[in-house]
Amino acid sequence: MQKGAIRVQTENIFPIIKKFLYSDHEIFIRELVSNAVDATQKLKTLASVGEFKGELGTPEITVKLDKEKKTLTISDMGVGMTAEEVDKYINQVAFSGAEEFLKKYKGQTDGANIIGHFGLGFYSSFMVSNQVEIFSKSHKEDAPAVRWECDGSPEYMLEETTKESRGTDIVLHINEESEEFLDEHRIQTMLEKFCKFLPVPVKFADKQLNNTSPAWTKKPSDLTPEDYQNFYKELYPYAEAPLFWIHLNVDYPFNLTGILYFPKISKTFEVQKDKISLYSNQVFVTDEVKDIVPEFLMLLHGVIDSPDIPLNVSRSYLQGDPNVKKISTYITKKVADKLDEIFRNDRKSFEEKWESIGLFAKYGMMTDDKFQEKGNKFLIMEDITEEGKFYTLEEYKQETSALQTNKDGKLVVLYATNAVQQDSYIQAAKNKGYKIVKLDTIVDAAFINNMEPRWDSMMFTRVDADIADNLVDKDEKSESVLTSDQESKLKELFQHIPQQHVKVELKGLSADAQPVIVTRPEFMRRMKDMAAV
Ligand code: ADP
Ligand code: MG
Repeated sequence: MQKGAIRVQTENIFPIIKKFLYSDHEIFIRELVSNAVDATQKLKTLASVGEFKGELGTPEITVKLDKEKKTLTISDMGVGMTAEEVDKYINQVAFSGAEEFLKKYKGQTDGANIIGHFGLGFYSSFMVSNQVEIFSKSHKEDAPAVRWECDGSPEYMLEETTKESRGTDIVLHINEESEEFLDEHRIQTMLEKFCKFLPVPVKFADKQLNNTSPAWTKKPSDLTPEDYQNFYKELYPYAEAPLFWIHLNVDYPFNLTGILYFPKISKTFEVQKDKISLYSNQVFVTDEVKDIVPEFLMLLHGVIDSPDIPLNVSRSYLQGDPNVKKISTYITKKVADKLDEIFRNDRKSFEEKWESIGLFAKYGMMTDDKFQEKGNKFLIMEDITEEGKFYTLEEYKQETSALQTNKDGKLVVLYATNAVQQDSYIQAAKNKGYKIVKLDTIVDAAFINNMEPRWDSMMFTRVDADIADNLVDKDEKSESVLTSDQESKLKELFQHIPQQHVKVELKGLSADAQPVIVTRPEFMRRMKDMAAV
């Protein structure tokens, strides 16, 4: 038997890292600035535990472009590295100094502040460079400054150099295929994307481009409604004000903070999806949260920040990740609780916002059982004959069950989809004392179909459908009001239509109703409504 360690041949692994580590080349800026943030946070931790006694100053990160030399330089005022550290952290691929630091200072540092994890980020610089230099001066007294240089082959050079200030400069010599990264505008845009909310000031062309303490990192009790509104404006400068928001904050069993905003949603569902951004320790990760947030929640806007969501792995892996699943469940619950809270504390405002909330709530109830359970309590329906009068399911039941019960004892919810077209039916039903609700939005047909089987004590009937069949009519006038001549003419009119498609029935109706009602089975109407969506 033989046991041993797999040996990695760097000649082989290097091109693989360069080529496949990140499909998106611009990621290098995120990785290098993240390392600069880590270096700065580490120094703060060391100062706080008394291991660094020097002047901290006001550390910042600067990004400089030199078009002539074709270099891009990222500088920080963080811990810096000694020659041994460069050898340990840089020359050893996939050894993460960040992880080592976290282990060592466990409990003494707010671990969530350190971004690095895999020990690969630095090498993403070779995706865009034909040579990378590191100039570093450690915070440790008397440690000489060092210069490291590598052209992307497994050979490197390490020597002493002169650098007065503490910290690290990473100098990228941008390669020919990547000259797009020598454009100010491009760099500016990338920095704004990845670094907008980093906790350490990041400067490019002498201007600071980040807000180091975005609202979601603060305590809800320290924020006013204006703060939330302003943060929304910061995220989406051109958007209409949000209706309300939810501040997320958990640290067990996973770490997650964030603010989700509820936008105005129009009847036609015209709302921009993909408006939730995912961050990890204030570093932008992605706008595509499809696998992290249930689809119906993608109508919300805002920020989710979680260091527990694996970042550098494939999407299909994400779906199976237990943390991702828990996060999605947590967010769904939070949103349902928030709606319930507004409903209970401020019903009037809830009703006013129902046009937006309703679409979303119905969509959520259809797709998530837990959400539906809560939604059953706050779902409201507006009376079509009385604007502004809303019923919850329970209230509707209370007010109508005496009259609107079918032969099987089920409550019949009468609804209209078009107040104008269905007016005569609505009036006729109203005259009988029925309550008719408005279910006229784009999701309603699907919602009714979806919910009906789940609410076994209720059924839905459109006001112009075969109401008479479904309801136990207390004072039905069954004798015909037509003359026998009229009756035979009508029968003749309908005789060519196959009986399985229509049902011809002649009966007396109230005076203000139309004398003839052609009814069609409820399900056929719904099919039509659904097809129109
Ligand atoms: P990770 O950040 O996941 O640990 P990286 O490949 O990004 O992996 O970096 C490897 C290590 O190199 C870091 O953990 C850190 O110890 C060191 N390092 C990289 N950049 C800097 C920097 N700007 N200042 C100090 N140390 C750095
Ligand atoms: Mg890193």
